[in-house]
Amino acid sequence: MTLPPPDSYACYKERIRCLCALHDCSITSGIRTKKRSGLVGSTSSLSKHKGEMGGWADDLVADDMSDGKRKKLVRDAKTLGLYVEDEGDHVHVQGLPPGPLK
Ligand SMILES: [Zn+2]
Repeated sequence: MTLPPPDSYACYKERIRCLCALHDCSITSGIRTKKRSGLVGSTSSLSKHKGEMGGWADDLVADDMSDGKRKKLVRDAKTLGLYVEDEGDHVHVQGLPPGPLK
């Protein structure tokens, strides 16, 4: 079963908390300023890390970042109705679809 996307920020953050608990993850980046986004190499004006986009994105690093563990983290994030990208050294998770806010 896959959950629908989160319908509130509180719901989104609760799902992130569950993922962190299930997979021994730390949040290494959450809400970012424009300046900080530039410093970490983000080129997207639509990044959900940005405060003006609501801060609906988090970067997760598990204590075990082996391929198999990352795959399970990605699978569970999708099951929780989240949008997810495996970036190798971290897993990017967001509660809103990519692209402009509607
Ligand atoms: Zn990210």
